[in-house]
Amino acid sequence: MDRYSRQVLVAGIGRSGQEKLLKSKVLIIGCGALGTVIANNLVRAGVGYMKVVDRDFVELDNLQRQMLFDEADVEKRMPKAIAAVDKLRKINSSVKIEAEVKDVTQKNIEELIKDVDIVLDATDNLEIRLLINDTCFKHNIPWIYGAAISSYGMTMNIIPKVTACFRCIISSLPAPGSVDTCDTIGVLNATTSIIASLQSNEALKMLLGDEDLNQELLVINLKDNSFYKIVVKKRDNCPLCGDGVLEFLDKKGPSEPIKLCGREMIQITPQRKMKVSLEHLKRKLERVGEASYLGYLLRFRVEQYELTIFPDGRAFVKGVSDKETARSLYAKYIGV
Ligand SMILES: [Zn+2]
Repeated sequence: MDRYSRQVLVAGIGRSGQEKLLKSKVLIIGCGALGTVIANNLVRAGVGYMKVVDRDFVELDNLQRQMLFDEADVEKRMPKAIAAVDKLRKINSSVKIEAEVKDVTQKNIEELIKDVDIVLDATDNLEIRLLINDTCFKHNIPWIYGAAISSYGMTMNIIPKVTACFRCIISSLPAPGSVDTCDTIGVLNATTSIIASLQSNEALKMLLGDEDLNQELLVINLKDNSFYKIVVKKRDNCPLCGDGVLEFLDKKGPSEPIKLCGREMIQITPQRKMKVSLEHLKRKLERVGEASYLGYLLRFRVEQYELTIFPDGRAFVKGVSDKETARSLYAKYIGV
């Protein structure tokens, strides 16, 4: 309890509040600019259990804003969830922390959110947010939306059946290429840190049972230092709030290749659950190109392409801009 003494002194927390936090369970989806700050804040604040899920590995241009990583993680191409959890355990060894290196999909999200009190959105992806929205609605778990780009950011608490949902804000997915991304207009570390801190603060309030939660969509603009709130009402024709249609969770069919935000990279997900022996694959691939096994993942270079392969069979294909080429490289070297 000593390590939390300054927090316990804050009005409304006290020893009983801290004890509540120590029994709480949170899931953080995405461990980049928002996720590292949220995880850092919540582990230091003393949540009892934290699960961190991320599909990616650490790269040099992440270090400008992804606060738990360093150059050694880049060198080793550490999966972000594992690198983050290694640091978090050093910060507070009394928190039970788990890392999951995987892509969040409709097939695994219900298993991931099982038994948690709150979900924190730290993704950079609308489709995953819509999936979180459906799943949290179905299981009655509050989640906290956060997004940041350039010097703008926004966050909102989404409490199923109480507040408006994410689909009330965004009724359908925008066309690819029609929205700005951190790839096209960049992002400041102040924007991501502030949004993530607001998200973690709202998470603590929810876990403490504080009724004074943010009720609106909170928007910040660091260019002119404006903070403002937009009232979001449940939409009458929202398919989720209105009719309970779980369009994104119930979606059938294979996973499509995904173009990753921020990089010339495409993710290929295997159609069935698999476990790949990366050492075995390395021996196979080094006959045709340059392959190195880095402990958590395998890097393979051939021609102008680079493939990064995870033990669950997922791969990032670098050096391609179209999904078909990425898929055929995957089929050729890894198999389907
Ligand atoms: Zn809704």
